[in-house]
Amino acid sequence: MSKQKYIFVTGGVVSGIGKGISAASIGRILKDMGFSVFMQKFDPYLNIDPGTMSPYQHGEVFVTKDGGETDLDLGHYERFIDVELTKDSSVTSGKIYDLVLTKERRGEFEGRTVQVIPHITDEIKNKVYKVRDFSKADIIITEIGGTVGDIESQPYFEAIRQIHSENPDDVLFVHTTLVPAIPGSNELKTKPTQHSYKQMMNYGIQPDVFVLRADYPITESIRSKISLFCDIPKEGIVQSENCDLIYEVPLSFKRQKLDKFICEKLKLTPKSDKSNKWQDMVDKFKKADKVLNIAMVGKYIELPDAYLSVNEALKDSGYNEGYKVSIKYLDSEKINEDNYEKMLSDFDGFLVPGGFGERGIEGMILTSKYARENNKAYFGICLGMQVAVIDILRNVKSLEGANSVEFDKDTKYPVIDIMEDKKNIKNIGGTLRLGDWQCKIKENSKASEIYNSDMIVERHRHRYEVNELFKKDLEESGVIISGVNPQSDLVEMIEYKDHPHFVACQFHPEFKSRPNKPAPLFNAFIKACGKLKYEK
Ligand code: GLN
Repeated sequence: MSKQKYIFVTGGVVSGIGKGISAASIGRILKDMGFSVFMQKFDPYLNIDPGTMSPYQHGEVFVTKDGGETDLDLGHYERFIDVELTKDSSVTSGKIYDLVLTKERRGEFEGRTVQVIPHITDEIKNKVYKVRDFSKADIIITEIGGTVGDIESQPYFEAIRQIHSENPDDVLFVHTTLVPAIPGSNELKTKPTQHSYKQMMNYGIQPDVFVLRADYPITESIRSKISLFCDIPKEGIVQSENCDLIYEVPLSFKRQKLDKFICEKLKLTPKSDKSNKWQDMVDKFKKADKVLNIAMVGKYIELPDAYLSVNEALKDSGYNEGYKVSIKYLDSEKINEDNYEKMLSDFDGFLVPGGFGERGIEGMILTSKYARENNKAYFGICLGMQVAVIDILRNVKSLEGANSVEFDKDTKYPVIDIMEDKKNIKNIGGTLRLGDWQCKIKENSKASEIYNSDMIVERHRHRYEVNELFKKDLEESGVIISGVNPQSDLVEMIEYKDHPHFVACQFHPEFKSRPNKPAPLFNAFIKACGKLKYEK
């Protein structure tokens, strides 16, 4: 095997300028040249992982196949490079300190003083080398969260500087910055980029590539200026253009010849050129024009990032079927017995995504009821399946007050309950049913038609389960339990009989959805919505 390469993506000036998309897009262009790629994100905060953080702080928690609760950028990475990542792809300072301090307590440092350099930095380097070794990828792309100059990100910069000095010919530094325009004159300003460059140089890192975000085209003179002040050839300066679809970014980078520049710098010879496929996908996506209005009913309505992978999977499935999906986020707290029929009447389909806590639950239950009774397409994911079970047992089976123990500890009918083995767990971090679990699919069900398989694997993130004592009641109410865990018989999928499309799952299919390979359950939902709307 030829020597493995490292690309480090750092950010300057401000956060939120699409560093993750840039990193993922670089991954895509490398993949399209025939290289294998693995990706990783370092987050400088002290939580061990984002699993315990509020969506308001962090947006979606992306779940990896091995049960890692990770940063949402990993979702972008997986969608762009189509590789299943692992827990080691998401590393926080909390995790690094935890590892170092555990070793300290075990006496592994043999009496030495434990310090940020070298002990924390060594642990950071170990994480890079670990994914290099197990992934065996040609190129490891590592994004550093936050911006250069933050106090908490300093050890990461020191660690990647050391990796460069250990592998001088095999490391490329990509730095993303903002080139702001002065309101009024609309003149682009390079000074923040120059300062950011100086900060990088303070850490001993010379960026090889600048990815500039600007609202106006980066002119030749801007390019020359940055090239001169930041000691970088003009070919190493690319613009991260504002694109209609994020999937256009790799194509835009390629148009600006970033692929060529990276290959020259890292002495890589492309093995193939598969970028046409990605281009064809983007072209197809842009042609999709039949509108579908989907209501997404949850409690983080003002925060679409909380459902990022669900949004992407919905839109991508739509594009693949020729639909432009317009997602309207409805606040489930505002939906009640008096208004639900009116509030829900204008949609082509309903999706209730995952969630935790009691707030807004009744509105979600009413959404299930509305879709079920009005033959509208319904897709429930995790909590969205649990509320469907509650709806059906309350409203069809007349188990009045049926509920999940998560929302009503004393309910007479605990139709969703916590499993015995989870009952005594006190820690909340990392104690859910997480990551890949198998699901056995029932013959002749809608699920079997959708997956075209009798055994599937999907990713999970939940604590509560359908209570097996109520399975019979569900079946008597017209529910087909179409997927179960083969070992424990836990309910994984349900569908409602004699309904055009009422399907729900306990797992999160959105995490395995790819733009060029949308998850089967999303595709089926979109197709059903389209059929109900356009083929009446
Ligand atoms: N709160 C529910 C549970 O813990 C659902 C979780 C989810 O939707 N991800 O089981």
